[in-house]
Amino acid sequence: MRGHSPVFADLHGGRLTIDLKALADNWRQLARRAGPAETAAAVKADAYGLGIEAVVPALLNAGCRSFFVAHFSEALRVRALAPDAVIYVLNGLPPHGCSAFHTLDLRPVLGSLDEVAEWLAHSPEDAPAALHVDTGLNRLGLSPPEIALLPKNFRPALVMSHFVSSEIPGDPITLRQIATFRAVREMIPDVPASLCNSSGLFLSALKDIAFDMVRPGYALYGGNPTPGAPNPMREVVTLEARLIQLREVESGVSVGYNAQWHTTRPSLIATVSLGYADGYLRSGGATAQHVGGKAIVNGVECALAGRISMDLITIDVTDAPNVQRGDWAVLVGGRLALDDVAHRLETNGYEILTSLGRRHERVYLSS
Ligand SMILES: *Cc1c(COP(=O)(O)O)cnc(C)c1O
Repeated sequence: MRGHSPVFADLHGGRLTIDLKALADNWRQLARRAGPAETAAAVKADAYGLGIEAVVPALLNAGCRSFFVAHFSEALRVRALAPDAVIYVLNGLPPHGCSAFHTLDLRPVLGSLDEVAEWLAHSPEDAPAALHVDTGLNRLGLSPPEIALLPKNFRPALVMSHFVSSEIPGDPITLRQIATFRAVREMIPDVPASLCNSSGLFLSALKDIAFDMVRPGYALYGGNPTPGAPNPMREVVTLEARLIQLREVESGVSVGYNAQWHTTRPSLIATVSLGYADGYLRSGGATAQHVGGKAIVNGVECALAGRISMDLITIDVTDAPNVQRGDWAVLVGGRLALDDVAHRLETNGYEILTSLGRRHERVYLSS
């Protein structure tokens, strides 16, 4: 957890508040849903941008014992925080990587016959590793027919696969993946299995597909695992920025680069100290063709005005009451739910979270 003083806080443009209690509650809620299956946590990409060093201790405290990262370098950071945890590295075994994995007791998620062969050749007997089977993403993992070619002495600690479209209820590909995964399990019997990500945990078939472990990420961080329906998770992230200047402009005046947005009335424009270099994607800019993002200023929802700059955003605060230099604009959180912001910025909430920049003051709320 990073300390901060009020003086230095004001030297940052944006303030990112991360509610670790809500995060822990989200993990507990998912663990209740998944039980008796174990609930692990996906903490790749710096815990979806929220900070491994804060998120992992909060999850350990809630009861989480197994973590999934993408890279070896991320596994090192988790191991430093969690000496006894089980840590899986999703992107698998890099060439000549075995001894580094053994030294830190990390488990690669082996995704090809080559990786399995290298692991077996350079590991103590029964060194635990997971096996990734591809059931439709065509990205990582053995294809189901390759399972017959696995060396007979290989016994993975976990067999897993990953959904293509679990957030879209009724997508037929999900049922095909479940059927394929069941067939895969029959080829490798008596090995613990894992299929569900966040949205998988909300599929109606859950009790048949939780298997031995579930691996949520997005929902832990407050993302909606059931898009289109109310979000069952607690909000974790709030992003705010200070208004650093206010200016009154006439009707018909352009604001921002390339003059793509014009006032249609005498307007009050506020500039905040946060831009696309801080992870507020440029696709959130307002132009004649595109509405763009929103901000809440003094309780009123305001439209953005013009393009997003690298370090600045301009907001039409004409309708907000008593606006002063130094007031805060909320850009994500509260009435601006993460998934709605993502929709306005033409992306998904995963990209919003993992884009969150390094320049914000980070405030971690615990217990
Ligand atoms: C990222 C990831 C997860 C977590 O997915 P969410 O949709 O964030 O819950 C689970 N499994 C694998 C293989 C992943 O890559």
